[in-house]
Amino acid sequence: MRYISTRGGMPAAPFCNILLEGLAPDGGLAMPEAYPRLTPAELAAMRGMSYPQLAFAVLSKFIDDIPAGDLKALVDKTYTPAVFGSPDIAPLTMLEPGLYILGLSNGPTLAFKDMAMQLLGNLFEYVLARENRELNILGATSGDTGSAAEYAMRGKKGVRVFMLSPQGKMSPFQTAQMFSLQDPNIYNLAVDGVFDDCQDIVKAVSGDAAFKARYKIGAVNSINWARVVAQSVYYFKGYFAATTSNDQQVAFAVPSGNFGNIYAGHLARSMGLPIKQLVLATNENNVLEEFFKTGVYRVRKAHETRHTSSPSMDISKASNFERFVFDLAGRDGATVKALWASLDRDGAFDLNGTPLMRALPQQGFVSGSSTHADRLATIRTTHQRYGKLIDTHTADGLKVALEYRDAAVPMIVLETALPAKFEETIIEATGIKPPRPAGFEDIESLPKRFEVMPVSPGKIKAYIAFQCANKWG
Ligand SMILES: *Cc1c(COP(=O)(O)O)cnc(C)c1O
Repeated sequence: MRYISTRGGMPAAPFCNILLEGLAPDGGLAMPEAYPRLTPAELAAMRGMSYPQLAFAVLSKFIDDIPAGDLKALVDKTYTPAVFGSPDIAPLTMLEPGLYILGLSNGPTLAFKDMAMQLLGNLFEYVLARENRELNILGATSGDTGSAAEYAMRGKKGVRVFMLSPQGKMSPFQTAQMFSLQDPNIYNLAVDGVFDDCQDIVKAVSGDAAFKARYKIGAVNSINWARVVAQSVYYFKGYFAATTSNDQQVAFAVPSGNFGNIYAGHLARSMGLPIKQLVLATNENNVLEEFFKTGVYRVRKAHETRHTSSPSMDISKASNFERFVFDLAGRDGATVKALWASLDRDGAFDLNGTPLMRALPQQGFVSGSSTHADRLATIRTTHQRYGKLIDTHTADGLKVALEYRDAAVPMIVLETALPAKFEETIIEATGIKPPRPAGFEDIESLPKRFEVMPVSPGKIKAYIAFQCANKWG
């Protein structure tokens, strides 16, 4: 299996070459040359598999430059009950016949990003050791991504994480999750500014090519191909848990932001998993809902991007969306390149009247959005009706799922975070303080380890250089 770019300008490369990279050299995203198709016999065999076995079956289709025994060991060490709370890893809960929630939030940061990020940490450590390399991950976070990355990379050999966050702007729970990590390879930098300042610093530092090369600066963003593949595994898990035969079809509803999660569903379907429909749910930031309803993709400006009570879906553009458009364009890099050039120029593109628009309905996507009031109502009703508390993002998914239910097709809503992470809104909706999992009861009072930094790329560079000059802790 080799990888090419969505914009057609990258020589085909093996998996380990693209694992540690961000964008392809031509600005596009890495994609497999072709999607592997699972045979009916392979799919039949997968029905009886445990989560780590499923993960190995899927990942080994995409990764052929890590020996099978090593890949299997990495997968087995990632998907354990100790890390994900149960041998099921991603348990399926029935709300009522035909309506399910797939629990993806039982990892260390209580959100679905752990499902892929935990594997990434082990993959990075393995490949860096094999190639005798080091990596300094530099990132900016306003909450979820940063903590998932830190919990994946903590204690990993050859990796340091420098995570910038806006000082005092994250929730006390999120702050505590990140800042309580005492691992010497994790550096929390609380920047005296807003999230955009943090992002600008990351851009400035990574934009200094000499510094980037000398200090081996890398990232773990949502476009990382290994993350996407690792996410496709739980679609298989959910499918087998909700059905009794591979002749059945299901639908998945996915709370979406950067299109990474739902693209993993598209990938699973492209491999042959019988998914009838992918229901894309947005919050008030409905760039993607609009695209699937109108064929127009219009990115939003910063001032048009709303801060909502499902903050991990507050996006102005969807970074993984380009992968889907590549498929829509019949995998023609030139078309994608032209579309993204018009996006840079005009802030939008319109597929109406093009062959891509004619191909869109065959992809099996539908979309919808939800508001704060919808979230409150969904959280309240779900609690009253089924006795289950769901978080604000999952509520967006469930709200839209109910608009597209088909009695003959099981609907599986992906739970992307636990309600304990969004206490305030859950209390607003139900009057109930969501229970915290064991170990999180008093997280805010743990000792914190962080440095306050000014909004200065120069100071951040100096800090990174100083830490790298010290030996590993
Ligand atoms: C990241 C995130 C999402 C959005 O997922 P994408 O892959 O960016 O579409 C939804 N919910 C939660 C809780 C998240 O952390």
